[in-house]
This record gives sequence, structure tokens and C-alpha cells, in this order.
Amino acid sequence: MRFETLAVHAGGESDVTTGAVAPPIHLATTFRHGPMAERIAGYEYQREGNPTNDRLCAAIAGLEGGATALTFASGMAAISCLLESLQAGSHIAVPDDCYTGLRVLGAEFLPQRGVRVSTVDMSDLDALDRLCQAGVDLIWAETPSNPRMKISDIQALAGIAKAHGSVLVCDNTFASPVLQRPLEHGADIVMHSTTKYFGGHSDVLGGALVFKRADSWHERIAHRLHITGAVLAPFSAWLTLRGCRSLPARMAMHCANARAVAGFLAAHPAIERVNYPGLASHPGHAIALRQMSDFGGMLSIELRGGHNAAVTLAGRLKVFTNATSLGGCESLIEHRASVEGANPTSPENLLRLSIGLEHPDDLIADLSHALE
Ligand SMILES: *Cc1c(COP(=O)(O)O)cnc(C)c1O
Repeated sequence: MRFETLAVHAGGESDVTTGAVAPPIHLATTFRHGPMAERIAGYEYQREGNPTNDRLCAAIAGLEGGATALTFASGMAAISCLLESLQAGSHIAVPDDCYTGLRVLGAEFLPQRGVRVSTVDMSDLDALDRLCQAGVDLIWAETPSNPRMKISDIQALAGIAKAHGSVLVCDNTFASPVLQRPLEHGADIVMHSTTKYFGGHSDVLGGALVFKRADSWHERIAHRLHITGAVLAPFSAWLTLRGCRSLPARMAMHCANARAVAGFLAAHPAIERVNYPGLASHPGHAIALRQMSDFGGMLSIELRGGHNAAVTLAGRLKVFTNATSLGGCESLIEHRASVEGANPTSPENLLRLSIGLEHPDDLIADLSHALE
């Protein structure tokens, strides 16, 4: 089955009792069992699994080409559950440019649990290989990365991980499985904030892990999820499953719009730099061409006029909304340094753009006017 067909049908078998074409939402927290707790239809308690969530897990696993998937209350719940399942004394490598929540987890929480965290530029394969000589249990990749849109070579990272006996995890939130399927390039686990493109409408929080194999990693993390309890609510699972149906169609339009906006910005004299892997000038362009089918709806820009030019532009836009998050229908813009807390890592002149589904001419006109 081709990807678009799978996106429409995965986890979408019509309801056997009613024939309903749209899947039902099962809100039950508990399921009738036998007198010795014998499961009747495979379910017992919502935290341990429920039919609506199972449909979503099947859909996400299918779209990423994994053996199995778990969903979580948020992307950060997925990341935390995975990384907190590591033994004390473990050593992990995380990218120098990555989602802020992962950076904070690595700086504040993981060391308290005895997990050592090293930060490395994942496009510098020699540096990663040197780090791995010291023993690395898990390599975390995020490509394209937030917010600088750095590209890392998943296949090359998988080679290094394999050579050193590490597990390779890839945050695939920015690309979505429409554009990039890391398991096909050798990753072991894929992570998603389904809050973003999967949900697609800025109205449902969620996270997912997709496993290449139903192995001991899956078993350990599933057990931890079911006990610690940061599970996805059935209504959220249902909304996210609904998002899967239109994911390929939306991504195609996000990509086309972002390409148009990036082209405009790259030619504008007020812009010092456009971080968008679809531009031939982007240092990761060749790798992106190899491992992605298109370049996505995210980009960041660095303005010539520094902090003031960046916040002035953000403040003058009318069609773009100043807000965090990404992957929704509406275009968003954000001055990352302002939201990164006490020690921002983003340059002061950087703005991150999530290109939505408006007409690209309206987005370009908005930017053009605001840059005057
Ligand atoms: C949003 C995001 C996360 C965290 O997901 P939440 O659903 O907000 O908890 C992780 N990684 C990336 C790349 C993200 O954009």
C-alpha cells in the first residue's frame, strides 16, 4: 500500500458493532473482566491500553514503518519516559541544536539520575565517533533540528551507533513520516511530538515512540509508561488519528508554501541568513535530498539588524501569529531567544517560522510589508 493510502486507512477499520466509518472514541477507564481478572476483549484499565489509542499506535507504527508504537501525553512525556528508563551510569549523546525541553532534561534532570549527557554537533561525524570511543549507550538525533534547521545524516549516525553498540533515536517531529522515515535509514527508535504535524490543528497535545523491533527497549519503556502513567487520553488519540488522514496532503502544502517563503526571504536584503534545507546554499542540503522527500514547513531566519530587527519584524506581522509550537494550519513566528529562558542558545537575531496552509502570496506580502 502506498503511503497516502496507508495514512487514510491505518487504524481505521470500521466499527464491528455499528459499521461506523469514523472510529469510535472509547472513554471507558475500566473494562469488564472475568472473576479471576481474565481479559475479555484484551483490555483492563485505560492507563494500560485502550481501543482508541491502539488504533493510533497502529497508524503511527505503520506510517513510520516500525514494528510497534507507544503514545504519550506529550512529546516531552515520550522523551522523558525513554531517557528515564536508562540505568544510572548510562552515557548519552544529544545534539547541540535541539528542542529546548530535551536540552533542559539533559542539563537538569538526567544528571540527577546518574545519566551522563554529552552535547555534540551531530553533523560532525568524527566528533561523534570520538565521543563514542568513551562508550555511549544512546545517540539522540533531531533532523531537521530546532531551531537552526541543521541536518544530520541518519544513515551515517546509524553506522556509528552500530559500530559502538549504541541505540539511535531520531526525533522526526519536523519532517513527519511523510518526508522522512528514520527507521528505513537505520534508526532504532523514532520520537514524535504529535502535537505538531500529526495533530496538525494546534489543538491536541501528544507524543509517540516508534520501535523498529518489538524488543526489550519497547518492553521496558511500555512497562514504565503503564506504571508512571503519562498516557495519551482517548479523545486526544482520536483527534491525532484524525490528523493522520490528511497528513500527506497537509505536508505537501506546508512544503510548497515554505519553499516559496524561503525563496523570498533568501533574496531579501534585510535577511542575513535563511536556515531552510531546501536551499542549495544550506550546508545539509545534499544530505536532506538523500534522506527526505521534501524539506518541510519549518525555517528560521537571522536578520541583519540583530535583536531589534528581529522583534520589530515579529511585532509588525499581521497574517503570522506570534506564538510557540508549529505544524498547525496557521503560520506562526517566534523569537526563540525570548522564550528559551535564562540561558538562550538561539542567536538574538533569529526568528523561527512555522509555515501554515495560507496562500503563500499572503504570507510573502505580510513579510514584505513588515520588513519595509
Ligand atoms: C514540540 C517538540 C517536542 C516536545 O513535544 P511536546 O508535545 O511539546 O511535549 C519535542 N521535539 C520537537 C522537535 C518539538 O518540536
